[in-house]
Amino acid sequence: MAEEQLSFQAEVTRLLDIVAHSLYSEKEVFLRELISNASDACDRLRYAALTQPDLLEDAPDFEIRLIVDQESRTLTVTDNGIGMNRSDLVENLGTIARSGSLDFLSKLGTDQHGDVSLIGQFGVGFYAAFMVADRVEVLSRRAGEPESWRWTSDGKGSFSIGEAAESLPRGTQVVLHLKEDAGDYLEETRLSRVIQTYSDHIGLPIRFGTGADARTLNKASALWTRSRNEITVDQYKEFYHHVSHAFDEPWLTLHWRAEGKLEYTGLLFVPSNKPFDLFDPRRSHRVKLYVRRVFITDEAEGLVPSWLRFLRGVIDSEDLPLNVSREMLQNNPVVTRIRAGLTKRVLGELEKTAADSENADAYRRFWTDFGAVVKEGLYEDSEHRDTLLKIARFRSTRGDQLISLDDYVAEMKEGQEAIYFLSGDDSETLVRSPQLEGFRARGVEVLFLTDPVDEFWVPIVGSYQDKALTSVTRAGVDLAKIATKDSAAGDGASAETTDETPAEGAGIDHLISLFKLTLGDAVKDVRTSVRLTDSAVCLVSDEGDMDIHLERLLKQHRQLSVGPAKRILELNPTHSLIRSLADRANTEGSGDTLADLAWLLLDQARIVEGEPPPDPSAFARRLAEALEKSLI
Ligand code: ADP
Ligand code: MG
Repeated sequence: MAEEQLSFQAEVTRLLDIVAHSLYSEKEVFLRELISNASDACDRLRYAALTQPDLLEDAPDFEIRLIVDQESRTLTVTDNGIGMNRSDLVENLGTIARSGSLDFLSKLGTDQHGDVSLIGQFGVGFYAAFMVADRVEVLSRRAGEPESWRWTSDGKGSFSIGEAAESLPRGTQVVLHLKEDAGDYLEETRLSRVIQTYSDHIGLPIRFGTGADARTLNKASALWTRSRNEITVDQYKEFYHHVSHAFDEPWLTLHWRAEGKLEYTGLLFVPSNKPFDLFDPRRSHRVKLYVRRVFITDEAEGLVPSWLRFLRGVIDSEDLPLNVSREMLQNNPVVTRIRAGLTKRVLGELEKTAADSENADAYRRFWTDFGAVVKEGLYEDSEHRDTLLKIARFRSTRGDQLISLDDYVAEMKEGQEAIYFLSGDDSETLVRSPQLEGFRARGVEVLFLTDPVDEFWVPIVGSYQDKALTSVTRAGVDLAKIATKDSAAGDGASAETTDETPAEGAGIDHLISLFKLTLGDAVKDVRTSVRLTDSAVCLVSDEGDMDIHLERLLKQHRQLSVGPAKRILELNPTHSLIRSLADRANTEGSGDTLADLAWLLLDQARIVEGEPPPDPSAFARRLAEALEKSLI
């Protein structure tokens, strides 16, 4: 077949442009990327050969080789892995399939050249080859297929592809025609240093040269099979970059060997940056499953609970059969037991970190990024509920810090029986909610629940240490038992509250019945409020009715099967506006003005809850009239 010229996808061209302008110091990472690809390719063939041993032909041992040619100034990275056929080459090397590179582009933003030093931290995959080469040739033959292919490009907008001049061994050779200033990658010592820095964890031998005097540049044993005290922090980090295709620092590294009835090795990482697909609806994890050093899959269903899907790394089982198919892994009892083991491990480590005051800031950062995912475990996995409630952190009226439920309980006021929360879209809005006034006045802390997942676990979990989790927007909230700060300071706290309430209550009875009559079906009830101190009115939900925020959330997602529940309008009997309205109701009885004001106050309460008035023009008319009267 004749050679064909094809264009790169636009994103690739942009990436290549950035790569070409990268700084010298980061260039060596090109080798990390090519070795990582070579190793992945060997893993994939090893797996395929479990069911199709013929694919291995006469070369069952996998290896990676670096070959230099001083004369033609080329460095070739060779592997005998799965290889690529024509469409693989076009697809894999002409478009960006991988998350890492797309993530890199989006981090750079719209700035054409941006901060190119980011390349070192991200890894732009195969295209990194163009940092050191002005021309790259990829020669490849896919295992089990007869045709050999040659892909070549100078990284400027297009590549050519055609049949290779001669028949190739299985696998891939990446030939780099080194740039003028990249001559040091022809030296063994330089290459050896780069391999040691970035690729020592690779489980296959990486050899330098051809034939009998080839030297192995790495330890050539899979990192997780080595003992912990032989592994440096940097080696763990490079391995994390390799398995996760991410280039941040691992926040937590767990490496352990389970022995006895169940034998496996785990090397798992919690990233320090949120992976971009964390909230992908499939909620699938990316931990790689190996069986006795052979890569099986990175999609083993059930290996990792979906509420720990941010974990990256490797599980290597001694118990599963090597010929296990991906389908056989579903509901496999060994996999289930490994999941139980690793979940306990990870939770134990998180609990330890959460309890360690030296790590407090780091733990809060972790929780800010991953807490919303971890909380899914509260309703999916009742078995771990207690631990999860211990490690959960919340924003609250206390201030900017994140607190635990234990912190909350420790500060509960005398007479306070419940753990109060307010849910909404973000804590900045919640802080200003009038619903909180009565709680503030009594120094009662309120948790802010701002993740959609909170609406699901709270009703299921119900309480913590026998203290009911109670929304402050519920009608039944019993604040009267807790003294306000002011009254507590004086003598006989409770006496003062009881003195006051009936007097005020009697005063506004008439107003309340007037409001009820006017508003009719628009509200469920009208009552005096103990929760307000500064605002005149607010809306609350009745016991047993859906929380206001949940209802809005479901409405947004079109998941609401019933009509919206009616709310209770609460009036603040100590507010001067309510007091003068009450006086007016007592002296003048009903009238159009009072009726209009009832509607206005209801709309005002709705607006504060984030709901628009259902009849904006009526609202505007009443507001204009009220303003006009106040001016006359
Ligand atoms: P990533 O490794 O993150 O997928 P790369 O840009 O490094 O992204 O590589 C793109 C794709 O090209 C790989 O996913 C793989 O399918 C293919 N590829 C690259 N190098 C090789 C190789 N040596 N052997 C087989 N396939 C390869
Ligand atoms: Mg890669």
